Order: sequence, then C-alpha cells, then structure tokens
Amino acid sequence: MDIGAIRIQPVIDGYLTFPAEADYPQPGSPDYEAHKETLQPDGRRRMTLGGFLVRLPQAPERLILVDAGNGPSTGEVFRPLPCGCPADAHPAIRAWHDHAGMDDTARQGHLDWLAQTESSYGQLLHSLTGLGVQPEDITDVVLSHLHFDHIGWLSHDGAPTFANATIRAERRDLAHFRQAGQAIDDGVYQAAWNVRSTAEVLAPVIDRIEPFDGDSAIAPGFDAMFTPGHTPGHSIFVLSDGQARGMLLGDMVHCPLQLTDRDFSVMADIDAALAEQQRERVYREIVGENLPVAAAHFPGLRFGRVLEGQGRSGWTYV
Ligand SMILES: [Zn+2]
Ligand SMILES: [Zn+2]
Repeated sequence: MDIGAIRIQPVIDGYLTFPAEADYPQPGSPDYEAHKETLQPDGRRRMTLGGFLVRLPQAPERLILVDAGNGPSTGEVFRPLPCGCPADAHPAIRAWHDHAGMDDTARQGHLDWLAQTESSYGQLLHSLTGLGVQPEDITDVVLSHLHFDHIGWLSHDGAPTFANATIRAERRDLAHFRQAGQAIDDGVYQAAWNVRSTAEVLAPVIDRIEPFDGDSAIAPGFDAMFTPGHTPGHSIFVLSDGQARGMLLGDMVHCPLQLTDRDFSVMADIDAALAEQQRERVYREIVGENLPVAAAHFPGLRFGRVLEGQGRSGWTYV
C-alpha cells in the first residue's frame, strides 16, 4: 500500500483461528462477500498476526516496524488443551476466572471457546527477509499497544531481536503492562496461547524503550493518535504525505466488520465504553475523508476503505 510516497507493507507472523461470533456474516448473508476473507471455508474466523513495515520518503534513514507480532515459535499449530469443567482448568486460567469473578457458566463458556482456538505463528523474521529487510535494519519498532500478540518479537532467546531499534510505546500502556497485576493476565496468555510473559519479552529491551505521551509526532509523516479503551495507552498511527493520508488502526477494530456494522463488537477492550467513543471519533474521520485504513488483525494485513451509501456501509480492499 502506498500513501503518497509512503510505502507500507504487511509483515505476517501467523494466524489465530476461533469460532465465528453468532452474528458474524456467513455464506448466504448479504455482507458475506465483503467479509469472507476473515473466514475459513469451515466458517471459523481467522485473524492475521504480525506487523507493518513503513518506509518514509521524508526520513529515508528510518525503517519502522509497527507492532512486533506474536513471537518466536516452532511453527506448529498450538491448540489449548480441552479441560472439561472449570475445576480442572489450568491453575493460571482458574486464577484468572477467580480474579474476574466469573460464575460457572461464564467459566465453562470461556474454556469451551479456548478449546476451539488454534494459533500458528513465528514467521515474522521470514516475512521481513522476503521484503529484503534484516532485523538489524529496523530503526524503530512502534507499538500500538502492549498486548502479547503485538510485542512477541521484541526479544528472542533473551536478547533484542532488532539490535539497532528504538522501541516506542505510549507511556500509559507501558505502566499498565508492567504493573504486578499483569501476571494474572500473562498466566492465561501463557496457558492459552503459548506465549512468554510480558515481563520476559520486555526485559531484554527495557533500556531501548522510549515512551511517547498521547498524540505524538513519531517521525516525519508518521503521527501517533491517542485512542485509549482497548488498552489504557492504545494508539493508532496516521501516515501523511502531502494531501495523502491513511491510518493504521492497531486493535481499535479487529475485523473490517467493526467498521461497517457498528452494532457488531468483539469482547476485547479493557474499557469498552471508552473504546467505543474512540471508534466513533475515528470512524467519522475515516468515512469523512475516505481514508485507506488497515488494522493489526485484518486479513493479510491489507488496507481497505469504508463505502458509505444508501443507509448502510460496505467495505472494499484497496
Ligand atoms: Zn490488543
Ligand atoms: Zn491484537
């Protein structure tokens, strides 16, 4: 995708598949064609994991990676073990259920959902090589937020993966994901998604992190827009070259359907009401200016546009 002379390329790390939500468009529904790329042939949903490589004409010395994927892996498909009833769940998952105050029905629903998920990842460096880029070429890793599926490749075998990169993250997200209580969430991430703890991933790069504070200029033509809700410091990125503009939406939305069907939601935001306010604000800007946008889990990390018309909106890839 080019926005003016800015080049943005997907860097795919892998995929996460899970059962489609009850109200997700399936074959036969009017919205199916626009959204079928987020579905597998068996009707399950598939989210892409990875990041975006950004080259800026106004700063040719910078090579920016936006988000750092799920992380190193043997490449096998990972499936959480089915564990029957909540009392038999992994201790870390039980602790999370207790912490969230879930009743037995909610616990069982969560376990049944987890047992139907699959992830495969570990391809990010291979994808970079395919773009002619070595890890040491990256000058900046800019994070939309610090969920495990956006920081995974920051370190590898106890050392920084991107030896020459400065890591940039919003200061509220850094504070949130480094507090002691994060261990409860990390326990679930480790048991359910086979990933390292946030502290373990961050330790080798902690002195390379330069926090930014709210709306910030990151590089010429590359600005962070503070959009809290999904996480306390969640940020989206605005790319601009002359009159041309586009956005990288992070996890503000998880699939294009969240842009075209405003009633559809995924249960992923730490502060759902605040996240919805931010979506509304950004949605008006996207539609008003007909901006090309991509989010961190869109299929193939491709850009698209929202098409407004006749009382309903559509989605098309560009
Ligand atoms: Zn997230
Ligand atoms: Zn994510």
